[in-house]
Amino acid sequence: MSMFEDIPVDVGVIYEGERIRGEQLHAELGGPKCDYKFELVRAKSMDAVEDGKITIIGPDIKDMKEGTRYHPFAIYIEVAGKEVEAELEGVIERRVHEFCNFIQGFMHLNQRYDIWLRLNKKSFQSGLNSLQQVGKVLHRLFKSELPFIEKLQVTFITDPKKVAEMYKKALKVYDARDARARGMKDGEVETFYGCALCQSFAPSHVCVITPQRYSNCGAISWFDARAAARVDPKGPIFEIAKGELLDDVKGEYTGVNEAVRKKSLGDVERVWLYTAFGYPHTSCGCFEGSAFYIPEVDGFGLVHRGFKDVTVNGLTFVGIADSTAGGRQVDGFHGISIEYMRSPKFLQTDGGWNRVVWVPAEIKERVKEFIPTELVDKIATEEDAKTVEELKSFLKEKGHPIVEGWKAEEVKPAKAEALPAAPVPTLRAPTAVIPAAGGFRIILKNAKIHAEKVIIKPAPKKE
Ligand code: SF4
Repeated sequence: MSMFEDIPVDVGVIYEGERIRGEQLHAELGGPKCDYKFELVRAKSMDAVEDGKITIIGPDIKDMKEGTRYHPFAIYIEVAGKEVEAELEGVIERRVHEFCNFIQGFMHLNQRYDIWLRLNKKSFQSGLNSLQQVGKVLHRLFKSELPFIEKLQVTFITDPKKVAEMYKKALKVYDARDARARGMKDGEVETFYGCALCQSFAPSHVCVITPQRYSNCGAISWFDARAAARVDPKGPIFEIAKGELLDDVKGEYTGVNEAVRKKSLGDVERVWLYTAFGYPHTSCGCFEGSAFYIPEVDGFGLVHRGFKDVTVNGLTFVGIADSTAGGRQVDGFHGISIEYMRSPKFLQTDGGWNRVVWVPAEIKERVKEFIPTELVDKIATEEDAKTVEELKSFLKEKGHPIVEGWKAEEVKPAKAEALPAAPVPTLRAPTAVIPAAGGFRIILKNAKIHAEKVIIKPAPKKE
């Protein structure tokens, strides 16, 4: 008998990567337009957790009208077990994404305070109409995949007031976790860690987690990864023996190159941990933020997922993310976590904070104490510059150190290269993943898709 016999839809790895578009939507939970949403795992004592208990605070899915959106939403999971310790909270929490995505017609994106879930009409009509069912699936998957968890209870919160109240507490928990590895140096450890959890979406992506480079999703520190590799050695997080240090500034190690080459099946040959150029760390799809190079000023902008406006180069976060996601190494576009911005090795090859020229006000506030004091007021936010021209004036007026470089070598505005006409409608994708039946995935490498005709139509209204 299947473990999910009583769940009205299928549950399995083949549903990972399934996308739910607006027209298929039954209900949306969290998401970019919703102020309060989060997922949080806490380690508790054995007597504080009732194994299998599922609680819903607020309306259930069946109480939500078809097509409704922006429901404040929280998934709060309490776990216990002899081997369960606070350092495992982050990695257990990160699996919520994977396990929710196993449910047919249920989509989970991002992590922590950025979660975005959708249920499609088809699965709702098949009977998936309660968070109780989602809770059962999570409970069973967690217990079977992470057997060191002895007890687990799940609380779903949809009551807006309660979500907002707990949201503030959750942010404090994330902050405390992030602060744990601060101050530690890469040179003080012999082992780094890798995570390949996002390969279901980005097959060549491997996160390299060091004391001074937090994971792209911002959910797994070096300590978290170490705890995970210990209790779940066959899981997605694994040890990387550093090997020989080839370049201290760029952050290149023989052991990292070897591990990434192996785990990416040869797609990625080298990684320089501390630069956005050359052989930058790959970007999966769930990175918390991104650095983007602005050639007109020879500096970097930074943007986080929650930034709803367009950035100074005219692109939204989604546009920037599309330029780098998928496990690629793209010069100048670089998926990163917020915590990495606090690292003394943050983009150190490229000049670190001296090279950063624009950042959303919210992020500036969050990382302010890690920006060199003399630079804080010289870095523009969306309130200071909305275009590259405005940015140039701002940087000159404030005397940002990057301006010195312009004087030394006159920076010519980057010419927009004329886009070639596309006489042959052939689309090329370096790597594409197609879910297939039977628990397999088909990975197409350097695929060329030939079409006899290409029809370009206006996109439907953005969600
Ligand atoms: S972003 Fe990196 S660390 Fe986070 S889940 Fe994906 S692969 Fe793992």
